[in-house]
Amino acid sequence: MAKTPFLERLAVGAVLISDGATGTNLQKRGLPIGAAAELWVLEAPDEIRALNQAFIQAGAEILLTCTFGASRHRLAASGLAEHFEAINRAALAITLDAAAEHDVLVAGSIGPLGQMLAPFGEVTVEEAEADFREQAAILCQEGADLIVVETQYDINEASAAVRAVRSVDTEIPLVCSFSYDRGTRTMMGVSPERMAEEIDVLDVDLLGINCGRSLEDNLAALTLLRAATEKPLWFKPNAGLPEVGMDGEAVYAVTPEEMADLVPGWVAAGARVIGGCCGTSPEHLRALARAVHANRE
Ligand SMILES: [Zn+2]
Repeated sequence: MAKTPFLERLAVGAVLISDGATGTNLQKRGLPIGAAAELWVLEAPDEIRALNQAFIQAGAEILLTCTFGASRHRLAASGLAEHFEAINRAALAITLDAAAEHDVLVAGSIGPLGQMLAPFGEVTVEEAEADFREQAAILCQEGADLIVVETQYDINEASAAVRAVRSVDTEIPLVCSFSYDRGTRTMMGVSPERMAEEIDVLDVDLLGINCGRSLEDNLAALTLLRAATEKPLWFKPNAGLPEVGMDGEAVYAVTPEEMADLVPGWVAAGARVIGGCCGTSPEHLRALARAVHANRE
């Protein structure tokens, strides 16, 4: 099916709908707490496909691949390093396949390496960039419609990921999204203004906010980011703050309706792509999509 490219869709002026969470929804489907979601790319691909399909049914126009933790460094921490290529290729293939018969785009997800960069940690910026380059090469060459460098907290690491993507593909639409999980600061203390100052000058098409802490904090971060950049904004907040359930699992108390009620405010604050991160189920996404459509009219 011939699909309108991502940036053309954005240029028309519509607010686009992305998907909900990968990790927390796979946990609901039985992925053990603490296990890497990428494990299921090889062991339970049908569960990932079913989650992709549930998001399409709910109204998603952009699906993210299950490759958030599929850099070599991060896979090594889960004992999956030897499956690096197989996981990235298969994860992309699963989601391309789910999207194929629909007018839905596929975003290759690239998350942080999961270790601090030097001088706080052992990984050098050059090593990080090489790692991201290897992952980006597979995602770009095997057919992703766009790339989302997401849940970033460190300017140096995010910049390395952006440079890595651009070193393998100068054309692919690229989103760089930070997680403000200390309110309106990342865990490294980066503010939306500082993020915009440092990342805006790189060759990215959208700046974004995803994951984070409360919905209130995420809206505050969005407002600050809007004032600091001219670029379109990507917005995938958590479904509020999790509480710890009986089995140690994260429980998200925000209902789909409560989240959807916030959509007009997010659009007014400048969000051009809307979805959800941790805790955002297909039911949440359905309510968000309905609110985005109502807001389009
Ligand atoms: Zn999240």
